[in-house]
Amino acid sequence: MTFQQQPPTLGNQYDDDRTLRSFLARILPTEVLAEIEPSLREMGRLAGSDLYRMQLADRLNEPVLTQWDAWGNRVDRIELTPLWRQAERIAAESGVVATAYERRHGRFSRIHQCALAFLFTPSTDIYSCPLAMTDGAARTLLGSGNQPLIDRAVPHLLSRDPEKFWTSGQWMTELTGGSDVGLSETIARRDAEGAWRLYGRKWFTSATTSQMALTLARPEGNSVGGQGLALFYIELRDDAGRLRNIQINRLKDKLGTRKVPTAELTLDGTPAQLVRGTTDGVRNIAPMLNITRLWNGISAVALMRRAMALAIDYAQRRVAFGTTLAEKPLHLDTLAGLQAETEAAFHLAFFVAELLGRSEAGEISEEETLLLRLLTPVMKLVTGKQAVAVTSEALEAFGGAGYVEDTGLPLLLRDAQVLPIWEGTTNVLSLDALRALGTEGRAFQALKAQISGCLEAVSDGRLAEAVRVALSALEHAESWLRQATEDGPESLEAGARRFAMTLGRATELALLLKHAQWSLAQESDARAAAAARRFASSGIDLINDRKIDEARVLLGLP
Ligand SMILES: Cc1cc2nc3c(=O)[nH]c(=O)nc-3n(C[C@H](O)[C@H](O)[C@H](O)COP(=O)(O)OP(=O)(O)OC[C@H]3O[C@@H](n4cnc5c(N)ncnc54)[C@H](O)[C@@H]3O)c2cc1C
Repeated sequence: MTFQQQPPTLGNQYDDDRTLRSFLARILPTEVLAEIEPSLREMGRLAGSDLYRMQLADRLNEPVLTQWDAWGNRVDRIELTPLWRQAERIAAESGVVATAYERRHGRFSRIHQCALAFLFTPSTDIYSCPLAMTDGAARTLLGSGNQPLIDRAVPHLLSRDPEKFWTSGQWMTELTGGSDVGLSETIARRDAEGAWRLYGRKWFTSATTSQMALTLARPEGNSVGGQGLALFYIELRDDAGRLRNIQINRLKDKLGTRKVPTAELTLDGTPAQLVRGTTDGVRNIAPMLNITRLWNGISAVALMRRAMALAIDYAQRRVAFGTTLAEKPLHLDTLAGLQAETEAAFHLAFFVAELLGRSEAGEISEEETLLLRLLTPVMKLVTGKQAVAVTSEALEAFGGAGYVEDTGLPLLLRDAQVLPIWEGTTNVLSLDALRALGTEGRAFQALKAQISGCLEAVSDGRLAEAVRVALSALEHAESWLRQATEDGPESLEAGARRFAMTLGRATELALLLKHAQWSLAQESDARAAAAARRFASSGIDLINDRKIDEARVLLGLP
């Protein structure tokens, strides 16, 4: 009989996820866990069965833009794929956005929502993108004090009824830049009735099928730079479904996230409403970015987790040189390294969710507020990089099959590759982390206190070396910061990425160690401890003294 390879399979993605379940058991009061568990189990079931099957079947489908109808009318209609249409329904009905705002469980509601998003994301081809922006828009509008806009849009954004549910876009990037949005060229002008209209081009607008968007434009006469921009609210279509003076020039032809309709737009007199004053748009859209950066981190750990679930299953099905891969010491060692990386990233992303939940419930200290500000960019940048590394290595764990499209595996790497780019690139967020430290370094002290608190909870001797690694990385980061501040801005900027990555990895290690100690004591489970020890030896302290002049010479640049 000819040999037939069995493909990897998925079980219930909640039941099978030790890391998620153990974290929730530690963090949530028993009665809260009991109440939310059915929703997580159902999402885990969908993600491992119906949605996963549908995702594989939908693989070749992509959104289609029709610009003209048969009679020469410009229509600019985008047709989503069946998977995304289904994902939208499930997201609304399961409250993947709404859960965080309904606040049935106070400060734990954000964790509940992130756990839903974590389970939902890997089977829905980055439907997390419109949901992240929807969540961000709800948070931004609710904090804006603009009651008419809140009354108009927020009930839609938070609806569990798919017929009423709206998603939101976030249109910031223009040809001039996505990082340096202060260069934006879109102009806002009042029409004869005094209403605002926008004129300009938006260069990357994801999920252009959304009903509304928050965007930046410069009211005529305002100063150049970010301060002169204002934050505007747009409803894309009129009651007849026609776009309101918006042209969709084309959909981007992208490496990944191919189900996401990311468009280039021209705004030509698009009606818009001010969200909060005629200036300071960049500052006013910040709440949206904090939310979308959290989603980015949750998506990163979700893709890592999916890659691991498939790779661990496959290792038990694939035979080479007489045994399954699961029995090969070197294959096991490789997978264990990826699992440790995944668990470390998980604890950082969910710690930020925990802090945000406390902030939203008004149960956060001043120190923790600083910590949330610092860890949001740090978490986004470190988990984004980890997702690319883990999904890349995980593909290799399938050998040639990992490179073949109809296994559904290459998608993981392509989709992960966007995570370090959008919502702020690694460098841009590293510089943001420096800004978050503030002039008196209070955020750094808050992080030090947090890490020390985690490490003081660790008493098991098997974790002692890992504790030392975390402390030493933190000390090195602190001494580098002191020296680089003395040396001047060029040194600070040049080392910012290594600094931020070190902070991120040291925080991940500390959080993982704290959890490992708890899991040893409460669950008699040594697996998180094994993850912590392995992660500790995988490069936590990335700081070094490379000089910027050396970089110039190396690159042959003046
Ligand atoms: C699939 C996809 C979907 C997107 N969807 C949206 C969307 O819906 N809405 C939206 O507004 N945008 C969207 N974007 C745009 C995205 O946010 C930007 O591409 C991103 O922020 C980077 O901006 P940029 O492309 O202008 O790159 P640049 O800013 O030109 O960056 C180029 C390189 O320079 C580095 N760099 C920039 N500034 C500095 C600095 N000061 N110091 C050191 N290094 C620096 C960057 O890290 C990067 O490596 C999307 C992008 C992608 C790929």
